[in-house]
Amino acid sequence: MDLRPFVRDVPDFPKPGIVFKDITPLLRSHEALDYISHALAEPFKNSGVTNVAAIESRGFIFGSGVARVLGCGFVPIRKPGKLPWKTRRSEYTLEYGSGVLEIHDDALTADDRVLLIDDLLATGGTAACAATLARECGATVVAAGFVIELTFLEGRARLDGVPVHSLIEY
Ligand code: AMP
Repeated sequence: MDLRPFVRDVPDFPKPGIVFKDITPLLRSHEALDYISHALAEPFKNSGVTNVAAIESRGFIFGSGVARVLGCGFVPIRKPGKLPWKTRRSEYTLEYGSGVLEIHDDALTADDRVLLIDDLLATGGTAACAATLARECGATVVAAGFVIELTFLEGRARLDGVPVHSLIEY
């Protein structure tokens, strides 16, 4: 299925110079949503994935669908101060400034094999931070899946060898 017609470019959002990839037209389509859950899960059906770990907030939308297809659990990786239990945190650099992500301390163990899911891979800072958190919990990061990859930003390079599976490349 060609997902490109469902991704809307919004220039200069949220700030000048950024072309925001708006996925809300895609979310409106039952067919596109269903296709994405299966297409992101497909390569990992026999990889022994125990958990999808998805990144707030758009990663949650796709991550839960992928977890259902794989028949595995779901772990939220969230922005600071949102998770109620004991957390681990990791900081990452953004184009301007830095960001922080958190995971529940007991969300993953050394027995877990994790598939990371987010909506979009840009510079890779967010996904690399999520991978760090999963590994700090003792888990193995099997791969990372994205609906969209902005290849010109070379985010894969920041993921230290974690295999990347993306559905649309720009
Ligand atoms: P990065 O850490 O640079 O790979 O950025 C990835 C995160 O930022 C993802 O969670 C995306 O949702 C968001 N993001 C970055 N760039 C864009 C963009 N051009 N359009 C939409 N979301 C973006």
